Amino acid sequence: MDDPRDDNRRLPARMNDRAVLLGTIDRTRDDAACIMVDRGLRPNVGRGWTIGDQTETFTMTSRAATEYRYEKLTWPEINDAVELGKVCVLPCSAVEQHGPHLPLDVDVVCPTEIARGAGRAIPEKMLVLPTFHYGYTGHVMDFPGTINMHFEHFIAGVLDVVKSLAYHGFKKIVLLNGHGSNWPNLDLIARRANLETDGECVPVCWWSLLTVDRDFLPGWRQSKFPGGCAHACELETSLYLYLDGDNVRKDQIQSGTISFNEEASPFMWVDLFGAGPSTLISWTSSYSETGVLGAAELATAEKGRLAYEEAVKQLARFISWFKDRPKDVRRDYHRRPPTMPVPWGQRPVGS
Ligand SMILES: [Zn+2]
Repeated sequence: MDDPRDDNRRLPARMNDRAVLLGTIDRTRDDAACIMVDRGLRPNVGRGWTIGDQTETFTMTSRAATEYRYEKLTWPEINDAVELGKVCVLPCSAVEQHGPHLPLDVDVVCPTEIARGAGRAIPEKMLVLPTFHYGYTGHVMDFPGTINMHFEHFIAGVLDVVKSLAYHGFKKIVLLNGHGSNWPNLDLIARRANLETDGECVPVCWWSLLTVDRDFLPGWRQSKFPGGCAHACELETSLYLYLDGDNVRKDQIQSGTISFNEEASPFMWVDLFGAGPSTLISWTSSYSETGVLGAAELATAEKGRLAYEEAVKQLARFISWFKDRPKDVRRDYHRRPPTMPVPWGQRPVGS
């Protein structure tokens, strides 16, 4: 005999562009309405679809199901977005010099647009937060226009955003980095978030998404390794040409070198896609004359399009995988239970 619930399994996850399947509720239970409320569902956002006599399938008609822009939701819709288990993506950028040919907002535009591109592709699975605009750029202050955020402020500020999200119920958070020197800070922020909240936080640099498909970069990159892709380079210039080409000073495009890379030391070299085992990172002005680190002259808008589409595709793939991945279970291996709370603001075992 056919089980009517089989129909549930044949339902598409997305019913239409305004509704997402949430699950089934047993109508024979008196507390069905309470269950809806307990799960944060308001009856007026759920649309019942009766299957058989016993079960009812609810779809969400809230805008939370189709809107990827966090700041465009209302507070009741945020509850709906939490119910959907949406992954939150926070672009983390910097306002920083990018040579004579690129504006100061390269590290803002690139991660923001890649995050939005993924959001448009899978709006039912993710939300893009307003971009965290300022970053850690203390070593670049010899170039006018660069805005530095003290690393303690940066770490505290981004962590405050992550903790706010986790408090409201978003337990999967991605920090999409657009600025290389944000990285050690974002790595620490994510580690702290994972110990100090009950959420899971992952940092990822947008350019690292281009390494997921191992065939992509070898077919894309024309500049030498290391050094052709580092800053305002073949990659960043290409992407900016694609995303906002009118604001590129095309007559000013000129490749630049990293002076210590020219020493050809096996210990000290740098590139966006790797670094030597003991690379000395100091003032940018001590190893660059123009602020361009890499082969900007090899950049094209078409290469920017290919890099953008690859990064968007891989970010959407990652979020789709991360969203439904069960959280790893923590265990306490002490023979005798600790007699004091775990320090440093970290969460106790089992919470
Ligand atoms: Zn940059």
